[in-house]
Amino acid sequence: VAKRLEKLKTTIFTKMSMLAIKHGARNLGQGFPNFDGPEFVKDAAIQAIKEGENQYARGCGVPDLNSAVAARFKKDSGLVVDPENEVTITTGCTEAIAATMLGLINPGDEVILFAPFYDSYEATLYMAGADIKIITLRPPNFSVPIDDLKSIISKNTRAILVNTPHNPTGKMFSRMELGTIASLCIENDVLVFSDEVYDKLAFEEDHISIASLPGMYERTVTLNSLGKTFSLTGWKIGWTIAPPHLTWGIRQAHSYLTFATSTPMQFGAAEALRTSDTYYEELKKDYLHKKGILVEGLKAAGFVVHPSAGTYFVMVDHTSFGFENDVAFCEHLIKEVGVAAIPTSAFYLNPEDGKNLVRFTFCKDEDTLREAVERMKAKL
Ligand code: GLN
Repeated sequence: VAKRLEKLKTTIFTKMSMLAIKHGARNLGQGFPNFDGPEFVKDAAIQAIKEGENQYARGCGVPDLNSAVAARFKKDSGLVVDPENEVTITTGCTEAIAATMLGLINPGDEVILFAPFYDSYEATLYMAGADIKIITLRPPNFSVPIDDLKSIISKNTRAILVNTPHNPTGKMFSRMELGTIASLCIENDVLVFSDEVYDKLAFEEDHISIASLPGMYERTVTLNSLGKTFSLTGWKIGWTIAPPHLTWGIRQAHSYLTFATSTPMQFGAAEALRTSDTYYEELKKDYLHKKGILVEGLKAAGFVVHPSAGTYFVMVDHTSFGFENDVAFCEHLIKEVGVAAIPTSAFYLNPEDGKNLVRFTFCKDEDTLREAVERMKAKL
């Protein structure tokens, strides 16, 4: 393996999902729904296939989808963007992350991450040769330590990554936190990469796109995707929204990473994004119900459950069960209890920081959630 990837291990998601299958565990680890996406979206993709939409798409996206993304973003954030020059369709948000890092970061550039972080930020920053700076968010509230941020951010900082609602903690960045980040970025001429793939799973507060704060659009890349909102994670449809001077770098990277994204799936995605707000309300209602089952169950099983305002994840403290760390606990959980979760040390540069914390997802059907909860109550 190349030197720049030497520090990386097999992704924790692959590892835990394989172990879950091996041990017949209920999988509350990797964040993918075990139920299907909506029929009208699937039908639109099938129709596109039957109508012969099966060759390479335009590199920056099927025009219909670029427009649907811009229209949805206007409804959500109030920002008016040019679908042709500011929206780029990618193969999942994971490619959007890679294209953003590779297209806009130079070797040696300082980039700030909030830990715990989604593992692909770290991996793609290694690929780009960035110098990663970490700010740690700590339980129970995972609030932004503003003084740490002020001392780390400088004229040498090229970019800061914001992820709200936040994977794995479920934290939502408050307007005040985003405002402080924004003014520090303006002061120091720093870019913001804002991963908002869980924006439709904001349960307790309204989601805020940092791009919509005064003076921020011109320095922000907003990243999003279809998978979480429409329970179609396997379609791998994502996108970036950024002003033309930033979109240019992203598109250059995207052109040589994947060139273009699956054509018929983009037609399906466009249909999805045009749906009415009722869909999103129903989705949230469903997820709130599932969240209730999991959170109550985890408490009854003896965990300390940290508050989660958004995403389909919750973080718990497992230390009352007496295991050495998160990995040891998750191994026991999968082998002896029959439930898979994600040890969070994989989301920190220093694994010690995550040793007390484990992430569970509730993007599973009710039977799976209830069975997992029963197993934990009986066997932990
Ligand atoms: N985003 C998903 C999660 O956090 C996993 C995506 C992946 O497996 N790469 O569970």
